[in-house]
Amino acid sequence: MYCERCMRLYEGGGCPECGRPGRPVREEDYCLAAELGSVLSDMYADILRQEHIPVLTRLDLGAGISAIVGPQADVTRFYVPLPRLEEAQALARELFGNDRTDPEGEQEP
Ligand SMILES: [Zn+2]
Repeated sequence: MYCERCMRLYEGGGCPECGRPGRPVREEDYCLAAELGSVLSDMYADILRQEHIPVLTRLDLGAGISAIVGPQADVTRFYVPLPRLEEAQALARELFGNDRTDPEGEQEP
């Protein structure tokens, strides 16, 4: 299933992020490919451009704590069309080790 609000694919009856019921995914849907910190997100955006993969980005400001702990807490989420999703995730894995890399994740509580 696909959640339009969170733009993510998931298994089961409700979106794990917002809990709303989704719908079957369509080919033109954008899906979450990677979540990256500010430095890596610039690199990844460049690579997607080189590969001509269309991308939407959404900046997650770390639930409002970025003013306290600094801009490195910002996470950029990358969404790509479903037909390019596997390709985009593979690029992220090649670059950063896995498709959900959060190199600054150790700062999480
Ligand atoms: Zn959702």
